[in-house]
Formats: sequence, structure tokens, C-alpha cells
Amino acid sequence: MDIMFKSTRGNENLVTASQAIVKGIAEDGGLYVPTTIPKIDFSLDSITNYSYQELAYQVLKLILTDYTEEELRYCINSAYDEKFDTNLIAPMAYANDTNLLELFHGRTIAFKDMALSILPYLLKTAAKKNGVNEKIVILTATSGDTGKAALEGFANVEGTQIIVFFPEDGVSAVQKAQMVTQTGENTCVVGIKGNFDDAQTAVKKIFTDNDLKAELKEKGYVFSSANSINIGRLAPQIVYYFYAYAQMVKANKINMGDKINFTVPTGNFGNILAGYYAKSMGLPVNKLICASNDNKVLYDFFKTGEYTIKNRDFVVTVSPSMDILISSNLERLLYHLSNSTDETKNMMELLSTKGEYSFKVNSEFEGEYATKDETFNAIKSLFEKTNYVMDTHTAVAKAAYDKYLAKTNDTTPNVIVSTASPYKFAKDVLKAIDNKYNNIEDFQAVVELEKVSDVSIPNPIKDINKKEVLHKTVIEKDEIKSFVQNKLK
Ligand SMILES: *Cc1c(COP(=O)(O)O)cnc(C)c1O
Repeated sequence: MDIMFKSTRGNENLVTASQAIVKGIAEDGGLYVPTTIPKIDFSLDSITNYSYQELAYQVLKLILTDYTEEELRYCINSAYDEKFDTNLIAPMAYANDTNLLELFHGRTIAFKDMALSILPYLLKTAAKKNGVNEKIVILTATSGDTGKAALEGFANVEGTQIIVFFPEDGVSAVQKAQMVTQTGENTCVVGIKGNFDDAQTAVKKIFTDNDLKAELKEKGYVFSSANSINIGRLAPQIVYYFYAYAQMVKANKINMGDKINFTVPTGNFGNILAGYYAKSMGLPVNKLICASNDNKVLYDFFKTGEYTIKNRDFVVTVSPSMDILISSNLERLLYHLSNSTDETKNMMELLSTKGEYSFKVNSEFEGEYATKDETFNAIKSLFEKTNYVMDTHTAVAKAAYDKYLAKTNDTTPNVIVSTASPYKFAKDVLKAIDNKYNNIEDFQAVVELEKVSDVSIPNPIKDINKKEVLHKTVIEKDEIKSFVQNKLK
């Protein structure tokens, strides 16, 4: 059966997976969702025998149904190769009784590589299938990690151009260095004076600006998105939930068929939504625990049913990739749970006009959050017990899970989804471990961390501060549209 996609806001015809991937976002401003979530057609027992690539094929073929087997395998094999520093692609780590799914073994040492290694191939294939001849312009707003992963994925990919906007003062020094040193003739990186929400809102607006789109189409360009609003980002993320489960079985942490929990450090709700899709497809999941930092809009939402950005200050935290108040992919969950495009559209309108809406989510999800102190304590405590070093985002999940556990005594085995290498946030990680590092300089922290931890500096960030800065543009947040217009002449 072909899985078709529709807009969460309902005002659009059904499209195929490849069409949804080319478009990125629906014309009515909604996000593409599968009209039905398929069930797995392989036995759960078989997943322990699959390589990451084979599992990816088995899962993706159920969702991206208009891709041929040959196309999918080409995309998968091109994505999940030696770019990753382990052939497991997404290995589990066990630090005493803490089970961690490490999603940071790709080229930019954060979990965005899991999807952005494959998205350029899915997109190129989709363009070919649908006879798109224009140059595809990838517009990306980033809270730090998406930008670099998208740049790596799309650099020098023929027929594409990529423009990345990041909050000038809202990313870590390593993240910034990774982006502004990006090579590739089709890449462009721009700092903005504003936060991630400003960047994301401006970019989303461009996607639905029909005049601008018509103007650029005449010049030979179409837009697409590398943000998790693109279904081509989400689908590949479903795979590693199955993969984690298989590894937990193989390590005798669980028996085949047992339910497990996942705790996911959450920002734009893409990662955890992929977990929800995995569960809906048949993975035995009990709870999905949504971990937030001090920008705890999702925690409040799951507790109270009220999503509100009114009177809420944007907090710059030590987990910048989660510093988000308008969590885009929640819209998809609202659609699936309400099963109503009208209701979803209504809630999104309320959010943009009144800054709030309400909706009561059932008990599949739990919200928790961790303050900076709780995050730092989680890093220090796990390190002291096991020598395992978590990054600040992963530590938000660990701290949040510990709070959840203390409240519920839920004995279901849990996997912490680990989203970045500690090296990406070395300065704060070291500060957490010992306050003698309080004044350490960013890149010195990378060198120091190697002395402290069991893991050596990942290749992608070795000597990154010595590379040439190739992108120096900084603009005001309301200049994003005109910047794009000028760039695409
Ligand atoms: C993007 C990111 C997150 C948040 O993931 P979402 O899919 O936006 O919820 C968490 N941690 C790190 C390190 C990230 O890069």
C-alpha cells in the first residue's frame, strides 16, 4: 500500500513521500504527515540480525513507499558509510545501569547527522523522480547542530545550494567554528542578531511566501528544508529506535518483546516524534519521556495541557540546541492525536495570534526538565561513578529521567538518547566536572577533555579553531528575507 502524506492543516491535496520531501513544508504552512502510520511487516525477532543499513531499509520502505528498493538502498548506503566512526552507526553505551544510545558518531558529532547524512540523497532522488529541474535551495534555521550537519550533507551536492541562519550569540564556540569554516561552493552561513525562534519563524515564512516563491522560480530556484519540518528528516530517525531496542536485547538488558522507555532531550520535537512513530509502527515502547532544559514549554504542556509562549522568556542555556519555545514538530503529534486537521490548524492559529493553546495529551508521553545545576550534577555524578562523559544535552535527559524515576518508581528499562559528543560542548562539560575549569577557554577545553575522558578528540573537530573562517556575514533578524532575495539573483 502506498503511504500518502497530507498537511497537518488540511488545505492541500495528498502528496507522495518524495513530493513531500522536495516541498519540505506544505503550502498552507502545515507539516506533512503520513495519512496512516504503517505497521512493521518484519518480525521483531529479526531485527537483532540486521545491520543498521538493512534495518534502515526495512523501516524506510514502509514509509517512503514511492521510492524503489534500488533508490532507497542507494540513499542508505551512501549515507551510512565511513563517514561514521563506527560501523554500528548508532552504538549503545552502558555506563553501569545507564543505557545510552549514542547518535553522535557522524561527521558533525551530533545526532543531526543521523538524518542529514541521508536527506541530500533522498532529496536528489525525489527531485529526479518528480521532474524538478530548478536548483534546490535549502534554507535552514539552526540552533547550532542542524546547520553544520546540513552543510556537510549538502556541500558540493550538484543542483543544490544551502543557506544557513544561526543565532550569532546562541551557539557554542565549537558549533560556530564548525559552521563558519565550512567549505563548498554552494554553501552560505549567516549569523543573525536574534534567537533560534526568530530564525525559524523567518525561514518558515519564506516557505509560505508565494510571491517570493514565484519570483525565485522564474530565476530557476525552488526552496526546500533541511529542518525537521521536512518529513525526510524524520523518517530516517525512526530507524535508530528499533536499532537501540535490538542492541538492548543482544546485550541481555531486556528480553525480546519487553517494553522499554526512551528519554529524549528535546527541542523541536523531531527526535522524540520519531520515537512515537517507531512505537506506532510496533516497537514495544512504554513511555516516551520528553526532557527539556529551562525553556520548559513542553514540560508545562505535558503537565497541564497548556502550550503557552506568553510571558515566557527565552533562556540561553548550556544545552543551546534545545533552546526553543516554538517546538515545530509538536504540530504533527497534535494532528495524530486529535486526528483532525481542523483542530490542529486551530491550535496553530491560536499559538500565532494568542501565544497559547490547550490540548490534553494522553499518558504515552511524560514531560520532565532539568535546570543548569541538575544538568551539571548529572554530568559530574555519572563521570565520577563510571568515567563516562555526557554532553550537556544528553545530561538534561539523564537528569530529567532521574527525576521521573524518583517520582514514579517506573521499573521499565530506559534508554537515554544521547544527542551529542561531549567534545561539542567541552567547556560546559568540564565546568560541570570540576569548577577549576570555570575560566577555561573554549578550544583549550577540547584539549583538556581528552586528558580527563576515555575518548579521544573526534577527527571532525581536531584543530577546528585553526581553520580559515570563510563565512563572516551577520544580519538583523528582519533582514533574512531580503538577504535570500539578494543572494539568489
Ligand atoms: C537538535 C538537538 C536536540 C533536539 O532535538 P529535536 O529533534 O529538535 O527535539 C537535542 N540535542 C542536540 C545535541 C541537538 O543537536
